[in-house]
Amino acid sequence: MAYKIAIASGKGGTGKTTVAVSLYKMLCRELEGQIRLVDCDVEEPNDSIFFPEAKKVSEEEVRQRIPKINVADCTFCRQCADYCEFNAIVVLPSAGFAEVNSSLCHSCGACLEACNYGAITEYDQVIGKVSCYQTSVGEGLMEGRLKIGSAMQTLLIKELKKKVPLNVEMILYDAPPGTSCSVVETTNDSDYVLLVTEPTPFGLHDLKLTVDLMKELGKDFGVIINKAGMGNDDVYRFVEENAIDLVGEIPFVSAFASCYAQGNLVEDMPMEITDAFNAIVEKLRHRLLVDKVSL
Ligand code: SF4
Ligand code: SF4
Repeated sequence: MAYKIAIASGKGGTGKTTVAVSLYKMLCRELEGQIRLVDCDVEEPNDSIFFPEAKKVSEEEVRQRIPKINVADCTFCRQCADYCEFNAIVVLPSAGFAEVNSSLCHSCGACLEACNYGAITEYDQVIGKVSCYQTSVGEGLMEGRLKIGSAMQTLLIKELKKKVPLNVEMILYDAPPGTSCSVVETTNDSDYVLLVTEPTPFGLHDLKLTVDLMKELGKDFGVIINKAGMGNDDVYRFVEENAIDLVGEIPFVSAFASCYAQGNLVEDMPMEITDAFNAIVEKLRHRLLVDKVSL
């Protein structure tokens, strides 16, 4: 069974993708294809940009079953609306109106069970797609891409994760930014979560929110401080006072920022950054020992 690490951050722009892609590229060397990077930021997946050589090997549409009320058979009894926990059904008897709002529907099927008049049928609605890429180290990259206008991030992440082979050594989930349901869905089956932050007041504020979420979810987690050397010491103080595992620090190096801007991570990494990632990999090795996992 694969060991799963989610890489998350309280807000965008903290370097979450940098960490996910760099760790994947570094670990690929020792895991020889036995690792997958799964881009769960389905609203804006961008990990593939960092693999210009990658070839898409498969692409599959993901569909959602949506109920449809056939007004000709409907008695407007409102039973379905009462059963819908997500307020996705509007029934207006006086107007002869009964409709499902597909953007609120979670496809739980309760309304179909509730209707005694056979007035509800279902249809498929495309919510996005899942793609696999062959990179220079094998079919290592997977991503979900939400269809524009769809609000079904969580469902798409769930379907994306179902398609990840579990017979590899390690899976890295690149989580969406924030503390929403999509982050919960991404991290819920992970063995360890790396929270990426930066030493600024905004970084600290968002880190506190993500730490609270991880505690609520009962997750093992550690922190990586990106752009170390900028800002102030408040994030360090918070990490120390709360006895949080400081997994690593990535120094702010402007040459690395330009590597990122050109989509070029790992190959031309400045030495300080390579050292920082080597230290992070060592810490992760220690974590795997703690979790009694051998790679
Ligand atoms: S399938 Fe579930 S969520 Fe969707 S409309 Fe029916 S009851 Fe509501
Ligand atoms: S339960 Fe069936 S009959 Fe009643 S309002 Fe809903 S669709 Fe119409």
